[in-house]
Amino acid sequence: MRICIFCGSNPGRLPIYLEAATALGTALAKAGIGVVYGGASVGLMGAVADSALASGGEVIGVIPQSLVAKELSHKGLTELHVTASMHERKAMMADLSDGFIALPGGVGTLEELFEIWTWAQLGFHKKGVGVLNIGGFYDPLIAFLDHVAGERFMQPQHRGMLLVEDTPEKMIAALKAYEAPVVTKWIDRKET
Ligand code: AMP
Repeated sequence: MRICIFCGSNPGRLPIYLEAATALGTALAKAGIGVVYGGASVGLMGAVADSALASGGEVIGVIPQSLVAKELSHKGLTELHVTASMHERKAMMADLSDGFIALPGGVGTLEELFEIWTWAQLGFHKKGVGVLNIGGFYDPLIAFLDHVAGERFMQPQHRGMLLVEDTPEKMIAALKAYEAPVVTKWIDRKET
């Protein structure tokens, strides 16, 4: 089993973010789960890779050629794939992985999280997608997503697809147990 980690290329303001990235990398390696990620050596991305490698785990990085210098591609990974484009990177990360976890991060992390979740919503894959809510980092986003569902721009079953946990162990267990719901059409789409 391999899990793809989306996370910040920055370390963030609080030490708890780096600590959580390290704890997640360690927990995945100890569980015998390979890590797939964006291949950088910086920020939380580097911490996930370093900690998984230090605990004997497999770490596969996927980075577009254009970002090799900017994100300082990691030199000690099990495998590093250099792709021609960002689209190729995201497709390869998705193909290689059996589930997805977003740690705290910026707009790149959010884009990756939302893309993979929308693919699940459309039934393009049946893999679990979760956010590791460190120190309540994702609380405002979770509240907004509840608002989106409450305003009926998202079905409750699609809203429920996003797993939210606050420790690596709980998130790994939730992803292992995840079963994709049967995707149905809006029951009340014709309502105004
Ligand atoms: P950030 O969360 O902004 O620090 O970015 C985290 C990772 O997401 C980095 O490896 C970025 O290269 C990547 N990223 C940035 N923009 C995008 C995008 N539009 N699509 C996919 N990944 C992205």
